[in-house]
Amino acid sequence: MTIINIHAERLLQILLLSCFTVSTLSAATTSDPNMPTTGSDKTEQTKTLSAAAKAAGLIAVPDLIPALVLDIRYATSNNFTGRQVYPAPRCWLQAEVAERLVLVQAELKKQGLGLKVFDCYRPFSVQEQLWQLVPDERYVGKPVRDKNGNPLEGSRHNRGAAVDLSLIDLASGIELPMPTDYDDFSERAHRDYTGNLDAGVIANRARLAAVMEAHGFSGLATEWWHFDASGWERFALLDIALE
Ligand SMILES: [Zn+2]
Repeated sequence: MTIINIHAERLLQILLLSCFTVSTLSAATTSDPNMPTTGSDKTEQTKTLSAAAKAAGLIAVPDLIPALVLDIRYATSNNFTGRQVYPAPRCWLQAEVAERLVLVQAELKKQGLGLKVFDCYRPFSVQEQLWQLVPDERYVGKPVRDKNGNPLEGSRHNRGAAVDLSLIDLASGIELPMPTDYDDFSERAHRDYTGNLDAGVIANRARLAAVMEAHGFSGLATEWWHFDASGWERFALLDIALE
């Protein structure tokens, strides 16, 4: 979704959510659905990729990148809606797009870095749910169906051709400092924002953008974490359920 600005009310909600997350971290266990997981459980990921998803060309990215850290916020209540909208934390992308991420991860690994993903393929019907919660094109890409009920317009995430992600230190799994948290819909999340940002934070954001651009992705101006795969228009809007 493309979000340019935010109401104070929504910002307050995000701040409250952030506080809630921090308060739960100390008591978190590996089974806490709000905690990031690695993609090392390949059997689990493969098993849950449905036949329909395979037929549409989607693959489970952790199958290709076992070290990928999953922090799929829509599978938790720690997202801007305050609700869990995915049944499970999944990172599915078009195979061709996932192969590009493999190259990104390989390049980062040489520098002791890796990737953490916040969102990958997003079903069209989930896009509609997000729209119902926040029917504002500044915040959510508007989903449109044609007269036959087929998806006509939506997010590039609905095509399995966009990914939201950040950099981690590979050894610790800790995210490198970035300008904002995920889905912070303020000007501070803009790709060209400098404001009072620390030089190290600006360098981290630039490092992420450079490695993604080197492998066929382009960033969204308003969200430092969002990247579209070039050629995204070749892939259809999909409404295959995550499971
Ligand atoms: Zn995105």
